[in-house]
Amino acid sequence: MDISVVVPLYNEAESLPELTQWIERVMLANNFTYEIIFVNDGSTDRSWEVITGLAKQNPCIKGVSFRRNYGKSPALNTGFARAQGDVVITMDADLQDSPDEIPALYKMITDEGYDLVSGYKQKRYDPLSKTIPTKLFNATARRVTGIKNLHDFNCGLKAYRNKVVKHIEVYGDMHRYIPYLAKLSGFTKIGEKVVHHQARKYGTTKFGLDRFVNGYLDLATLWFTGKFGGKPMHFFGLLGSLMFILGFIAVVVVGCVKLYNMHHGNHYILVTDSPYFYLALTLMLLGSQLFLAGFVGELVARNSPRRNDYEIDSEF
Ligand code: UDP
Ligand code: MG
Repeated sequence: MDISVVVPLYNEAESLPELTQWIERVMLANNFTYEIIFVNDGSTDRSWEVITGLAKQNPCIKGVSFRRNYGKSPALNTGFARAQGDVVITMDADLQDSPDEIPALYKMITDEGYDLVSGYKQKRYDPLSKTIPTKLFNATARRVTGIKNLHDFNCGLKAYRNKVVKHIEVYGDMHRYIPYLAKLSGFTKIGEKVVHHQARKYGTTKFGLDRFVNGYLDLATLWFTGKFGGKPMHFFGLLGSLMFILGFIAVVVVGCVKLYNMHHGNHYILVTDSPYFYLALTLMLLGSQLFLAGFVGELVARNSPRRNDYEIDSEF
């Protein structure tokens, strides 16, 4: 099979028939063999009825339905697990992404050898309250992830080599960072294609402004786990040891100063009267706490069933 189109959706009943027809039209015109996997993320409207209705007319349509709403990432992950096509396309259900982009995206994967191609909504039809934070968000993501050529990490329209979606695990709200997840799994040929974007025709957006706060927190998590997830001691141990040593030296200095002054008959103050003593104490306490955190982290990492899970590309 050439293409799997994975569509996560939550309360998008009005858009679904139009979206399906549009995808079918494009597939037919290009002679692709395909499947459309609708992942109903616990919709409370008629979405699931609409999907089962559509599937009756076209055997290429498959559906999965969650009993409750989990979020876009779990929906994508579920669709990915079922995708059989050589190229997997994800797109939003709200008609903001255009199926007309599919053939070009497909070619970039099959002919140009990309592992992942992300859409770039250069001209967006979204309110300013969304586009400005998005710019900032993408600039940060580019820096932190080191994927310099992406302008739109969170574009719903993306294409993947099948192998990529089978190797990444999208959970929580991590759909915003799929290119980074792919990179962390060793898929580095990541490209971008400018795509058309439309204003939402039916229904309303499912994400509020909290997406930006959560987005940054998730980025911090991914960066940290990507860098130190397997060796937490390298982070906490270094920081902890440095702080402890600094505190220890400071305590020794405070003590020596007192002894020196005492010995030479100068005026001296008690160690516990010196503010530096408390600073040094704090440093030593925090340092050993951090060190311990690293140690506990190592114990956790050591017991992870995935500690020896490597991405093997080929073997003979
Ligand atoms: N979506 C989902 N589960 C959710 C929220 C959203 O499956 O909990 C789907 C939604 O139906 C749509 C896509 O994710 O197909 C993108 O959502 P939306 O269009 O609301 O996001 P925006 O375009 O505002 O970023
Ligand atoms: Mg949308």
